[in-house]
Amino acid sequence: MSDPAKRAEELRILLNYHNYQYYVLDNPEIEDYEYDKLLRELEEIEAAHPELITPDSPTQRVGGEALTMFEPVHHEVVMESLQDLFSHDEVREFDKRVREAEKDITYVVEPKIDGLSVSLEYENGLFVRGSTRGDGVTGEDVTANLKTIRSIPLKLNMPIPFIEVRGEVFMPHERFFKLVEQQELNDEKPFKNCRNAAAGSLRQKNPKITASRGLDIFVFNIQRIEGVDVELHSKGHELLKKLGFKVIPDYKICTDIGQVIEEIDKIGERRGKLPYDIDGAVVKVDSYAVRRKLGSTAKFPRWAAAFKFPPEEKETKLLDIEINVGRTGVLTPTAVLEPVTLAGTTVSRATLHNQDFIDGLKIAIGDTVIVRKAGEIIPEIIGVAKKGGGDIYKMPTTCPSCGSPVFREEDEAALRCTNAECPAQLLRHLIHFASRGAMDIEGLGPAIIEALVSKGLVKSPADLYYLDIERVKEIERMGEKSAKNLISSIEKSKSAGLARLLYAFGIRNVGQKAAKLIAGRFKTIDRLFNVTVDELTQIDEIGEVIAQSTVDFFKLKSTEHLVERLRFAGVLMEDNTEEVADTRFAGMTFVLTGTLPTYTRSEASKIIESLGGKVSGSVSKKTTYVLAGEDAGSKLTKAQSLGVPIINEDQFKEMIK
Ligand code: ZN
Repeated sequence: MSDPAKRAEELRILLNYHNYQYYVLDNPEIEDYEYDKLLRELEEIEAAHPELITPDSPTQRVGGEALTMFEPVHHEVVMESLQDLFSHDEVREFDKRVREAEKDITYVVEPKIDGLSVSLEYENGLFVRGSTRGDGVTGEDVTANLKTIRSIPLKLNMPIPFIEVRGEVFMPHERFFKLVEQQELNDEKPFKNCRNAAAGSLRQKNPKITASRGLDIFVFNIQRIEGVDVELHSKGHELLKKLGFKVIPDYKICTDIGQVIEEIDKIGERRGKLPYDIDGAVVKVDSYAVRRKLGSTAKFPRWAAAFKFPPEEKETKLLDIEINVGRTGVLTPTAVLEPVTLAGTTVSRATLHNQDFIDGLKIAIGDTVIVRKAGEIIPEIIGVAKKGGGDIYKMPTTCPSCGSPVFREEDEAALRCTNAECPAQLLRHLIHFASRGAMDIEGLGPAIIEALVSKGLVKSPADLYYLDIERVKEIERMGEKSAKNLISSIEKSKSAGLARLLYAFGIRNVGQKAAKLIAGRFKTIDRLFNVTVDELTQIDEIGEVIAQSTVDFFKLKSTEHLVERLRFAGVLMEDNTEEVADTRFAGMTFVLTGTLPTYTRSEASKIIESLGGKVSGSVSKKTTYVLAGEDAGSKLTKAQSLGVPIINEDQFKEMIK
């Protein structure tokens, strides 16, 4: 076998190379599978020889421990913000001011990525620290989280003594949509846009979460450098590329302001088609010598400015309003528009959020509306330009997916479908239904559930109980043995009992505890079909809201249907929680004296009381037992004189078995 140190070194070089090809150049040379195999081999070597782990090892990307706080980082070179320019005229004025200091100017124009600005520091080619911009002077140390971003090199291609670079961490659109979908599925508040998502993901205390978010980076400036002379910003970009950084794409060197404006407009036209958000274009003086000469005002550098693209607005006709039912049951109205081109993309749909939004803008089908698209990917309707004569749109009272009544909670703007079998919410319902605490069906995770649903094998939680091995085997990669196991854990879940079943239904506001309380009180599901709010609120911890949700749920025809099918399949509909307390010490009085070998007095007292007994401080004829330990004093003597039985801890333990 080869030398592990040598092999580890080789693997690190290989992995870093392929990582660079994949994440920086977007040009993978090997399959993910092969990459994973190499990574596994390195992990194994490092596990056997921990002394071989190096800070730049690809295995160290997600090794960091979760933090309780981020350490402050002082930025040696201030991470300045830029002056905003809003028109071509303002760009020309900027140019004039620059040329007052220096006649001969070359600019670099770059897209302005809408993300989170960070600084990355490298010593002798190794990534040592990364921080957020913060207020420009002091940021936060997010090194562990930045390490999880695969396009950030842990080791540079050249071991230059020191370099600090600035870049923008962002979340690509594709990842953003996936994340939002996942958040909705988990009933979490989804991020509003890519920038929020990037910031929220980078400032996670747990690097593993950051790693899962698929963040990316574009590096766009050298803040400090030692050991190499760089005279021009554009040459700096070339150096950064050579070092292995993912450099801001589409930057352009311009020799006069006309070219600069042309380039800004080109970036503006492209912006809707990029796979990430940009919110402007940055104009920078190329020469570092000129930059130093120009210096900064109290607020901004004089050698750079950011052109902000105006949000584009257009009028178009609102042809229709469609209602979508999300996986959480929320009904969302979507405007169907006569297609218009906005910020480089064709817009034919826009969200109308909810009834409050529609009422606020007094929107009716047939109106001419104003659609706006700013840097964000999602267009929005900001007003009505011309009324079409129709009535203000009213959201439906029933779910368009299943016809069940919809429901609006007092403090919520959203309407929800209440049907547990609503096809639009099926996936989420099933995941919850099978989860721990609910029916706890082992082996029935989200992936299998998705496969069952997409094959049309399961359309309701009840369908799970009508599956057989043959049908389950239709799922890809599901062997005979796994199919058998799955069917047997579904079978086992039939006896979960009423409390878990109630929780599994996913009744709004009914969590595990409420489900337990309700099951404990009413014992059988049949009692719940005509239960009233009053009856439910008689349970101490059940309030109006939970009671109403429960009543509403059991009124639905679909609930009746679901329960019947579950019952027919043999699912237990009764409460099976053990509530008959063990009262073996009822009517007995214990006196404790001396030191017991293992229990403290208070522990022993708790046990006695939990079994229905009483603990008294003094011995009398009524005392049932004296539990005596070491150094028992007068109480023991008294017990002996009264003839009260005396027991030791071992005997006590025997009694409570
Ligand atoms: Zn529905």
